[in-house]
Amino acid sequence: MKTVDLAIVGAGPAGMVAASEARGHGLSVAVLDEQEAPGGQIYRAVEAVAAQAPERLALLGEDYAHGRRLAENFRVSGAEHIDRALVWQLEPNGLWYLRDEVCHELKANRILLASGAIERPVPIPGWTRPGVMTAGGVQILLKSSGVVPDGRVVLAGNGPLLYLLAAQLLAAGCRIGALVETVPYARYLEAVPHLPAALGSGYLSKGVRLLRHLRSSGTRIYRNARDLRVEGEQHAEALCFHAGGHEVRLDSDLIVLHEGVIPNQQLTRALGCVHRWDDGQKCFRPETDEWGNTSVEDVLTVGDGAGIGGALAAEHAGRLAALEVARSLGYLQTRERDRLSTSSRRQLNKLLQGRRFLEVLYAPPEERQSPPDETLVCRCEEVTAGQVRTAVRTGCTGPNQVKAFTRCGMGPCQGRMCGNTVSAIVAETQGITMEECGYYRIRPPIKPIPLAALAAAEVDCELDDVAQ
Ligand SMILES: Cc1cc2nc3c(=O)[nH]c(=O)nc-3n(C[C@H](O)[C@H](O)[C@H](O)COP(=O)(O)OP(=O)(O)OC[C@H]3O[C@@H](n4cnc5c(N)ncnc54)[C@H](O)[C@@H]3O)c2cc1C
Repeated sequence: MKTVDLAIVGAGPAGMVAASEARGHGLSVAVLDEQEAPGGQIYRAVEAVAAQAPERLALLGEDYAHGRRLAENFRVSGAEHIDRALVWQLEPNGLWYLRDEVCHELKANRILLASGAIERPVPIPGWTRPGVMTAGGVQILLKSSGVVPDGRVVLAGNGPLLYLLAAQLLAAGCRIGALVETVPYARYLEAVPHLPAALGSGYLSKGVRLLRHLRSSGTRIYRNARDLRVEGEQHAEALCFHAGGHEVRLDSDLIVLHEGVIPNQQLTRALGCVHRWDDGQKCFRPETDEWGNTSVEDVLTVGDGAGIGGALAAEHAGRLAALEVARSLGYLQTRERDRLSTSSRRQLNKLLQGRRFLEVLYAPPEERQSPPDETLVCRCEEVTAGQVRTAVRTGCTGPNQVKAFTRCGMGPCQGRMCGNTVSAIVAETQGITMEECGYYRIRPPIKPIPLAALAAAEVDCELDDVAQ
């Protein structure tokens, strides 16, 4: 069986830069990604867009176009790119992936998880109806196929990605009916002390540009909105909310929800890495040292999967992790690693300090941690917030027992969508902190794979470990 020095999961900015850097020091590197082409979330399909649809490249903005250079460097680096590869099981020195309906194993001396972020679910009454999408989902259609929504589009929530999507949709000729912002007014004051660091990082000027663009387009903006709910029988027909002392109902053909992104913890959890609750980012994240080493030997994680830092931070963190792997495998002396890391370390720290402003301003509203009883929290198994509360009141001690009692987190998404919300409801009902409450135990396969593929593979793991 093939063994590489470094296997990287994720060909986003963190994974691409880590691969290029590691190859530069002579390591053998394989990069696996579910997507057809390198780019990750931010630079999804950037090569194809640049080659075949330059007008789309222009409307997606210069930050998106930056990904072309990373992809070019990655392509010529000599790293093996295993595309359309879903990594569904990990061990400290190897991993299993599904490609073309067949399971394959890859051995590696070190594993770097650069599997990025997922959107924070926005569980409001009616959010699972047809006619409601996430901002990321809409953006994926725009980037990969040039598809833009038609009819009355309402965007609701907060966070940079929501404003960016609004600007991209406007540039693509889409008419946005309204933007409904869920940032409580008090947050602006709370964020002020972090303004100087944000000014230095460049985030603020980008945000101001986006907001200006939105205002000049004539898009109606509602601020300080709360009590959001989607109305409609079979299909979402309207977004209802409270803002400015009034009940508002906006008829809509498409409602787009977004309240930031959180680390995709499925792989680090499945591997048993220690995770901590980050109260600043309002999410769990794997515990790492300054190079990305996790609590599991020979496994590192960087980029948004290790804590939300954004695409540029992911590049620097990817480079640092590659230098550390090169050192630990004897390709670099410690002194050389430290010398080569100086600039990336400095830039990474600056970018992360600048993000504190965004974290405070765009923290999810309190009400999202505690959805009304009738709200579906686990959309795969159709479990409501009320059912989770009842399970806790009848004695469930934590998220894993709630899972056994209600089946929440046992569907195809394996808890990716409901994990944070279920932990928040359990913590609130028991009066404990998120850290004390913890999270689901994640078992392989972390995403559904065909049983035939599993049966045909000689998988070296206990049957008990496979999700039931
Ligand atoms: C839907 C979405 C859209 C976003 N769009 C933007 C944007 O337009 N602009 C912006 O500034 N930020 C955007 N972000 C935030 C953004 O993801 C980053 O800050 C940046 O891309 C992080 O880089 P990364 O390398 O850590 O991870 P990513 O770029 O997310 O790359 C992670 C890669 O890992 C792969 N992966 C994950 N799990 C597996 C697995 N089990 N098997 C195989 N492959 C796997 C994914 O396919 C992905 O390509 C977006 C986030 C999301 C969730």
